[in-house]
Amino acid sequence: NKPVCSCNACFTGPDCSHFIPHCAAVADSGNPLFLEPFWMQHLASSALVVVGWHQMGYTYEDSTYVSKELEKLVRRVHATVGNAVTGNRFIIFGAGSTQVLNAAVFALSPENTSSPARVVSSVPYYTLNKEQTEYFSTEKFEFEGDAHTWRNRSDTSSMNVIEFVTSPNNPDGQLNKAILHGPNVKTIYDRAYYWPHFTPIPAPADEDVMVFTLSKLTGHAGTRLGWAVIKDETVFKRMMAHMRLNSMGISKDAQLRAFRLLKAVLEEGTEIFDFAYQTMKSRWDTLARTISMSSRFSLQENNPQYCTFYSKIRQLSPAYGWLKCEREEDKDCYAVLEAANIIGRRANQYGAEGRYVRLSLVKTEDDFDILIQRLNELISKEDGAK
Ligand code: PMP
Repeated sequence: NKPVCSCNACFTGPDCSHFIPHCAAVADSGNPLFLEPFWMQHLASSALVVVGWHQMGYTYEDSTYVSKELEKLVRRVHATVGNAVTGNRFIIFGAGSTQVLNAAVFALSPENTSSPARVVSSVPYYTLNKEQTEYFSTEKFEFEGDAHTWRNRSDTSSMNVIEFVTSPNNPDGQLNKAILHGPNVKTIYDRAYYWPHFTPIPAPADEDVMVFTLSKLTGHAGTRLGWAVIKDETVFKRMMAHMRLNSMGISKDAQLRAFRLLKAVLEEGTEIFDFAYQTMKSRWDTLARTISMSSRFSLQENNPQYCTFYSKIRQLSPAYGWLKCEREEDKDCYAVLEAANIIGRRANQYGAEGRYVRLSLVKTEDDFDILIQRLNELISKEDGAK
């Protein structure tokens, strides 16, 4: 039997074939279902059966929470793609990169000080950097907003600063670099999107703390498996201590599933990357062509760069369109789109002005098609249509 994909908001019925007219294009979440068709083509190599008695204990044979087999596989995937240096580095897993990012903030905060670490990120920043830091805020760290405003401050040399650098960035896909440097500055590189799916790979990333996730690599966001590649042993140990206290380790079932999926990825050569890149590139090209018909909207910059994975110069194929409303009066770009039956994500979630909206390009093909349809309808009604 042909498996049935997830239905999007515009379809219903057992095989998602019943179209709901006038439905909204829901382009808000980053659910990476664009990879579903790839896995539907790889049923046998990705399937997993786990018997009841298997891996019941808290830890593995070496008394750790980390599967050494998965760790080896992760290193091999990075070596194949050339997107991260993993030799002489420690690897830690967590419940999605969400938990790993949080563990990194705890681990990089000063242990014995009355002055908390100031956590910053450059606008537009990934929503969770702010939300999570504020929610878990302790005397050890607190969120201080836009990293740009800290660049020229003279008092930072006496403060502990943690900068989140999301590269490629969510929401705008840019290959961000750290903007704060100094003896008391620690940087967490969120590399969730540093895969050929979304960006040229100019060189293997080699930062002190780099965070990745299965969610944006294979698309298995629900497995909740992320990891960090860490240079410093003390930081690694502190992150491990956090995992022990926070969740008594890391789900072995999630690690097993990740193992199965990454093994399938490696067995297929470059197939998943080719599929993901072609899908994202084609979606980006379609979106860019659609938006170029209007003078009312624009998209983020997309300067080509050399990609070592494809040995060619290529553009970004970002997970999200960072749409800007150009007209003076369109200060609430989200509302402009909402009136046209398009649900994006508000810019204030990224610390940015309301003139921007994030549009997700990583959902199902149906989701994407409806988004383009609604954008075309909106743009064709515009006086300013080119
Ligand atoms: N970092 C970035 C930049 C993301 O966009 C996301 C998910 N949207 C995450 C981390 C968290 O992903 P997960 O917890 O599924 O690994």
